[in-house]
Amino acid sequence: MKKISLKWLGHAGFIITSPQGKKIIIDPWIVNNPLCPIKLDDISAADIVLVTHDHFDHLGNAADIVKKTGATLVAAPETASKLQSQMGVPSENVAYGGYGMNIGGSLEIKGVTIIMTQAFHSSETASAVGYILKLEDGTSIYHAGDTGIFDSMRLLGKLYRLDIALLPIGGAFTMDPFQASKALTLLKPKVVIPMHFRTFPMLEQNTSRFAKLVKKEIPKVKIVVLEPGQEFTFKRS
Ligand SMILES: [Zn+2]
Repeated sequence: MKKISLKWLGHAGFIITSPQGKKIIIDPWIVNNPLCPIKLDDISAADIVLVTHDHFDHLGNAADIVKKTGATLVAAPETASKLQSQMGVPSENVAYGGYGMNIGGSLEIKGVTIIMTQAFHSSETASAVGYILKLEDGTSIYHAGDTGIFDSMRLLGKLYRLDIALLPIGGAFTMDPFQASKALTLLKPKVVIPMHFRTFPMLEQNTSRFAKLVKKEIPKVKIVVLEPGQEFTFKRS
């Protein structure tokens, strides 16, 4: 099995390449994202597109990418419905034949298992959600979406033995560095990659406060701070 790679697009956007080369794109806000270093044209292939909720900074260019790559879109039912009726995503490109799925649901697409998890946040359609991905080599990645801390993160950590957690740390609309560092004590991943900071002036602007708190709360978690466009590679040991 090859290494996996995670490329940060800034904000909550990631492109994950699985050990078997499948491309999974989460919350692809590319056009007008001040931190995103790539253009929509740079994305020519995708297998799975995940949307956590329908705010502009997460829904972003999901519909464009699904339409041009033929990827399968995963979103909560009412969000999936909006993407079909208002943004022209064909129902055959949506999980479960156009229905999408809901919290607790899971789906295997091309060898990658996607589990939808709860998130505490607002959304115009459906509930905001997070995702856990199980890649072909068993690597387990949690993208929390936009959320405050919740105690059931402990259960998610227990059930899915997380390798990598992608956590918002920006405050204002999501967990701040303090909550995100406490979330790690519940989730207990091997690696954390902070996200959802710096994009807007009211968000935490850098990761220094978060890094200090993680070192104090749970020093065995490795913090990987990416610059937008930068990739992290990981191999499960
Ligand atoms: Zn957001």
